[in-house]
Amino acid sequence: MKKIIIFLGIPGSGKGTQARLLAQRYGYVQISTGDLLRALEQDPHGDPQDKEKLSVMKAGGLVDSALVYKLTFAAIRQHLSAGKGIVLDGAIRSVEQAKAFEAFFVSSHIDHEVVAFEIALPDEIGRLRMLKRKVCTACGHIIPYRPDNESVMICSACGGQLMIRADDTPETIDKRMVQQGNAVLAPIAAYYASLGMLITVDGNRLIEDVDADVVRLLESQS
Ligand code: AMP
Repeated sequence: MKKIIIFLGIPGSGKGTQARLLAQRYGYVQISTGDLLRALEQDPHGDPQDKEKLSVMKAGGLVDSALVYKLTFAAIRQHLSAGKGIVLDGAIRSVEQAKAFEAFFVSSHIDHEVVAFEIALPDEIGRLRMLKRKVCTACGHIIPYRPDNESVMICSACGGQLMIRADDTPETIDKRMVQQGNAVLAPIAAYYASLGMLITVDGNRLIEDVDADVVRLLESQS
């Protein structure tokens, strides 16, 4: 099976959830660039110049790509050298980033080990899901919206308090959709399709159904 699995999707598409499920199933490491950037924000020893570049996150903008590469390539190298497979979640948000990651994989001689999954979802459904999803203040897990968990306020994994994520306001969500919606995703997906690396699954279904599809397609590849 491929060692590097890239998840592409608009905000709210469930790419983070799918990445987590897949990582758990195969013992892969999930690298979420959003988590790496939020960890830097919280790190009292983080480089102040790098931390300055994070202010755009609250406004729904994209962080400077050079900082994303610095953090993510280091994490990928570290886990690969420990023999781990990797699931990348949210790492690629522009064609320029897709090309930079591909150049990194080629120079690391692992480009033949990469596959990209697009979790396809219309912008409007992603927007509605984001308005209602929650995050655990203790362990950081994102709790996707489902009709049956709307009133749940305690994390089932760790017992922590759940809240709406600070950058999940209606204004920020709208801005994220402009900057990270399907209009932006389409050329990225087309780039991976041109490399013969793209698998698209319908994200407008139950989490477990999307997961089953991803597993089936991944395992039928190798
Ligand atoms: P996420 O947790 O994936 O929704 O990411 C949260 C925020 O982190 C995004 O809205 C961006 O501001 C920033 N971010 C995450 N990944 C990237 C990336 N690959 N390039 C630029 N900014 C990113």
